[in-house]
Amino acid sequence: MTCSGTSALRFAAAVAVGLAAVAASAKTETAAASGDAHPAADLIIRDARVWTLNPAQPQAEAVAVLDGRITAVGADSSVLLWRGPKTRVVDAMGNRLLPGFNDAHVHFADGGAALTAVQLNDATSLKEFVKRIADYAVHAPQGEWIRSGNWDETKWSPAALPTRQDIDAVTPNNPVSLDRYDGHMIIVNSQVLKLAGITAKTLDPPGGVIVRDASGQPTGALKDAAIELVDHVTPVPTPAQRRRIIENALHEAASHGVTSVQDMTLDYGDLAVYSQLLREGKLSVRFYGAPPIGKVSDQAKLGIGHAFGSDSLRIGALKMFADGSLGSRTAYFFEPFTDEPQNRGLLFKDMLPLSRTRQRLQLADASELQVCTHAIGDAAISTTLDLYQEIEKRNGPRDRRWRIEHAQHMAARDFERFAQLHVIASVQPYQAIDDGRWAEARIGHDRASRTYAFRTFIDHGVRLAFGTDWPIAPLDPLLTLYAATTRATLDGKYSQGWFPEQKVSIQEAIAAYTVGSAYAEFQEHEKGSIEPGKLADMILLSQDVLTIAPAAIRDTHVLKTWLGGVEVYAARDSSL
Ligand SMILES: [Zn+2]
Repeated sequence: MTCSGTSALRFAAAVAVGLAAVAASAKTETAAASGDAHPAADLIIRDARVWTLNPAQPQAEAVAVLDGRITAVGADSSVLLWRGPKTRVVDAMGNRLLPGFNDAHVHFADGGAALTAVQLNDATSLKEFVKRIADYAVHAPQGEWIRSGNWDETKWSPAALPTRQDIDAVTPNNPVSLDRYDGHMIIVNSQVLKLAGITAKTLDPPGGVIVRDASGQPTGALKDAAIELVDHVTPVPTPAQRRRIIENALHEAASHGVTSVQDMTLDYGDLAVYSQLLREGKLSVRFYGAPPIGKVSDQAKLGIGHAFGSDSLRIGALKMFADGSLGSRTAYFFEPFTDEPQNRGLLFKDMLPLSRTRQRLQLADASELQVCTHAIGDAAISTTLDLYQEIEKRNGPRDRRWRIEHAQHMAARDFERFAQLHVIASVQPYQAIDDGRWAEARIGHDRASRTYAFRTFIDHGVRLAFGTDWPIAPLDPLLTLYAATTRATLDGKYSQGWFPEQKVSIQEAIAAYTVGSAYAEFQEHEKGSIEPGKLADMILLSQDVLTIAPAAIRDTHVLKTWLGGVEVYAARDSSL
């Protein structure tokens, strides 16, 4: 899964050459065979099984591309009329062609950073976790921070949180701050606690927890808002480091057929890198970024409104947090956790106090900005819907497309409200087969039955947008399609599906990942389906996911990825 710096560079150069070639293709060349006046296509993909996502023409054989956009879709014979002497013709050999995947919820730079960081997610014991950190630390320059990791203690037995003592001995020369895979907890070593000045006397910040041992000493685990206690000592990456990380992420995206991403932690320092890559013709994914809600006044001042920018790079959204996560026991519920009767989670600091949250939302709405709120527990989702409802009541109905990210554990009465308020459910099905291993023990059967309730959302007419939350889950969309259609948990315990009544069809899953995600970023007229006029973002798959058994979907891989008709990825084993 990882990719070296050199291959990322080679890839970037190839994208630049490809994009330049498209720019240079003169419109004066005409299609020889047609006899019509229309110009020749730059690219024709023929003999494909095209699932277009266009209800007016669901299936086709071939697609022609001109100047980055789709210009013809249909039978080989009709589309080949667009062929000219310089048209590149790709024979898809009967493979399945789909619109590029649009991941509606990623942390793109974090994902890029995770590719080269210490890999802890699949460690199956505390011993293995410590060993991997030790092996990594041996090669880390003295004093350099060891970060990321994405550990998951639920894969160990017993599933106890790691402590600073576990890692201190193997990291004497490096500050260590390792993310739990859900992004709602970190474990730091004693060196970092010292640097940040966190002691037994430090109070828990609002919306956060400093985990402590029996004697009241911090264990090194910091939850939600407490994570920020180390921010002021954590080094900020240089522009060159940011660029390397983002280039790695771009390569990862192209290799998985992800042609658009919606970034839920846009940092202005990264925005400068995306902008530079765009100017250089090397931005090989379409990017929509949402900075944190605390920065609402920046975009409000500019008056840009939602989804402002070009086809390739846009801003105009805001990310807010209503609560934490189920795994970290910081998701906010009406009733306590089934296995922890004193705890019902907590609202995130973005919601404290609610009067400030209201002001921010009011400013966002007055500025026509889009709001995307992370809400996991049923009470967090309800509170967010209440706030959205107040805004609509005050300012009147409008095409806001405000979103709830994750929408994980729904109160039964809120599905209806979701639909009435036209709120988009931006969901990550892979988490259902990951958390499904242990979620029921934590919240009980009744609440679990409305967890990752994709079928119920669709039945209520709620619009779904699919994504992964990468690097919290793998970026690979085939795994997400597998998860949504099988709900077969990763531990093999529910091979027929965890709450199988919530499965969706492969057609519904692909739609949520393409047209659904495009709608969630106001881009449904630009992308999401293969039809004339739309951006030529397409992928070719090694297996026909529409006809194979859902259990086999995860063995599928991407053969080719095109962005605006430019090939940005070709599998090594692809002879096409
Ligand atoms: Zn996220």
